Amino acid sequence: MKKHYKSLLMDKNGLGQEGVRLTWLGTAGIFITDGKTGILIDPYVSRFSLSTIAFRLPLKPDRALIRNWAEKLGREKITAVIVSHSHFDHAADAPFFAIEAGAPLVGTESTVNVGRGAGLEESKLIAVKPGQTITFGDFTIEFIESVHGAAVLGRVPFPGTIDQPLVPPAAAGKYRLGGVFALLIEHPAGTILHHGSAGFKPGMYDGISVDVVLLGISGRGNTDRYLENVALKTRAKLVVPIHVDNFLKPLKDGMSFLPMVKFGEFCRKAQQHREAFIMRTAPLCKEVTMLPLDATILPGVDVQ
Ligand SMILES: [Zn+2]
Repeated sequence: MKKHYKSLLMDKNGLGQEGVRLTWLGTAGIFITDGKTGILIDPYVSRFSLSTIAFRLPLKPDRALIRNWAEKLGREKITAVIVSHSHFDHAADAPFFAIEAGAPLVGTESTVNVGRGAGLEESKLIAVKPGQTITFGDFTIEFIESVHGAAVLGRVPFPGTIDQPLVPPAAAGKYRLGGVFALLIEHPAGTILHHGSAGFKPGMYDGISVDVVLLGISGRGNTDRYLENVALKTRAKLVVPIHVDNFLKPLKDGMSFLPMVKFGEFCRKAQQHREAFIMRTAPLCKEVTMLPLDATILPGVDVQ
């Protein structure tokens, strides 16, 4: 399966041209930049172990690792840090990236309380509501209300909201869901949808079409319905599965699949729609070209 993942990897083709580049940081963590402006979504590099989570030990974001990553991505290029929901694997590191970059942290009221608890100043906290739109450089981001996938034993883990500043270290269960956003990101080079958690609301994408969907696939339940309601509904031309990796292991260990993610099954289902969209995988921690699409999808390259 890992070989298959490798065979579909996006590459640096077209890098250096006008366009939008993507760096996947594992989980739903994505850095998108056009070279002038950078949007960092759900960055999570501390990757606490299974035993830390299971024994409800306090999660201490790895500031040194976060600093290294901010440096590597280019802290001056990180214009905003956006969180799609407040679970630890989306929100625990985000305020510290914002601090490193001097950038605002954007998300629900729950996310803002994660930022407050981490010591971000009020001027750097932006609470958004469903339907709201914010512009950073040439990127315009619409926050679309979504729902979380039934990720653990058919249920949404850690529901509820974070109503007080959440001071780390705090146990995983303290990172309550808050609301869930899908992010519709428009740029002159094309439109990207970050759909970080594998739930959906029927009709949420009525009238919306995109070029690329970054599709969180862990905890997705029925793959056909999921593809139908997100990738096909938005008429995406390129689908990049994210949140496929085992985030209970450190990033330095490289790519391995999250148990239960059923990547093979996802590929088979995705292939049935090859007339509609092409699927590509993102390499872990490497910058690749995403838009314009003709730089990403080489003519004549067949995807199996
Ligand atoms: Zn979650």
